[in-house]
Amino acid sequence: MSIRIDKEKCIGCGRCIEACPGNLLKKDQNGKAFILHMRDCWGCTSCLKECKSSAIRFFLGADIGGRGSALSVDIVGDRYLWQVTDSAGKVRSIEVNKKEANKY
Ligand code: SF4
Ligand code: SF4
Repeated sequence: MSIRIDKEKCIGCGRCIEACPGNLLKKDQNGKAFILHMRDCWGCTSCLKECKSSAIRFFLGADIGGRGSALSVDIVGDRYLWQVTDSAGKVRSIEVNKKEANKY
């Protein structure tokens, strides 16, 4: 499993770099984020939740039943709109209000 960063969407804010607990994310010469060692990513999704440009996607490996699915998140105010896109392009959405994240 690993993430991919869309450089067209990345605005170089650096929030993902600060959020990654493994210090895996860096900036290239154009100020865009990239992952240094993909295989070291353990899928915590911290970087996705910090990216307000929705530039980061997380690929769900076969080992967790993902079969090529990708996870992305749009941040709208206090809400995280998680989207899982399967290999056939079908999208499923899960909405979480971050103010209620510790409620359950
Ligand atoms: S948080 Fe998103 S926009 Fe900001 S540097 Fe990272 S990938 Fe780019
Ligand atoms: S998913 Fe977690 S470990 Fe992987 S790059 Fe993002 S913040 Fe780092």
